[in-house]
Amino acid sequence: MYDIIVVGGGPAGMTAALYALRNGKSVLVLEKTGFGGQITHSPKVENWPGTLRMSGNEYAEAFLEQILEQGAEVDLNEAVKIEDHKNYKTVTTADGETREAKAVILATGVRHRELGLAGEREMTGEGVSYCAVCDGDFFKDRKVCVAGGGNSALQEALLLAGKCSEVIMLQDLPEFTGEKKLQELLFARPNVSARTGVKITDLEMDENVRLTGVTIENAAGEKETIDCEGLFVAIGLIPENEAFRNVAALDRWGYFDSPESCETDTHGIFAAGDCRAKQIRQLTTAVGDGSIAALAACRYIDAMG
Ligand SMILES: Cc1cc2nc3c(=O)[nH]c(=O)nc-3n(C[C@H](O)[C@H](O)[C@H](O)COP(=O)(O)OP(=O)(O)OC[C@H]3O[C@@H](n4cnc5c(N)ncnc54)[C@H](O)[C@@H]3O)c2cc1C
Repeated sequence: MYDIIVVGGGPAGMTAALYALRNGKSVLVLEKTGFGGQITHSPKVENWPGTLRMSGNEYAEAFLEQILEQGAEVDLNEAVKIEDHKNYKTVTTADGETREAKAVILATGVRHRELGLAGEREMTGEGVSYCAVCDGDFFKDRKVCVAGGGNSALQEALLLAGKCSEVIMLQDLPEFTGEKKLQELLFARPNVSARTGVKITDLEMDENVRLTGVTIENAAGEKETIDCEGLFVAIGLIPENEAFRNVAALDRWGYFDSPESCETDTHGIFAAGDCRAKQIRQLTTAVGDGSIAALAACRYIDAMG
């Protein structure tokens, strides 16, 4: 039996592993796609405290090396079921194997909803972004578009309006669905304009596979290409927590409904990082959660005697 099984090998999960290992616990980290999580999609990270610049992959590789050196066991495998047996938990993986642990830390993260257009993945980090806090500074004094019309899109656009020369909001519905107050604040900015009822049909790129514009289509089927250097996609986040709602309650958006302590309503099960209900989803908040959840899990195990 492991002391702790961590589900998810992103920044939150790897931090949880690191802190638990350094507290003398045995740890297995299960990761379904690739260690590092979302940050591996970012070629340039400039807001990791203490580091001038790094790629998401560099960060992920160094982090994996660090937890392996500390003694973590890792398995590229998807956790599909967790069961609570009071003083121990079982975690079943996609290959049908079941492992036991005294505590489980859920660090399953989120996925950013994509537009699903040709070139979108190739241009992520080359003009296409899903995070204004992370990448806004790369577009200082440049013209950008923002796809989306909810609160996240409006907030992303507000942040960008303070940096970019021009921000054009592209919303497929006839109206914006985010808070009125946010809309007022945003559209009071002289460098912000909006196109509603338009669908983005194509992403334009240069020979270096860098974004040069977006093509939109209105309800009448008329197409227009808007030249821009950046496209921020803010059409929603997808938590993937459904399979574990038997051990950790979800809020109405599908996030683990656990407070800052990272505890869930099942003793010995903790939730950390972007998968948890919270305001800010960043590396710093994910690793903060990872350490909090690990130390709470260690205390829980130690109290078992
Ligand atoms: C393109 C992009 C750029 C970004 N840039 C920055 C930046 O510059 N600065 C910054 O601070 N933040 C940035 N972020 C945000 C940052 O990456 C996230 O906040 C952070 O990765 C969250 O860490 P996490 O561990 O909570 O979740 P994630 O990174 O989402 O990791 C969760 C992991 O769990 C795995 N998983 C999920 N379910 C299961 C399961 N059932 N079994 C096994 N494994 C599972 C997933 O495959 C994933 O690897 C960026 C995000 C993106 C998408």
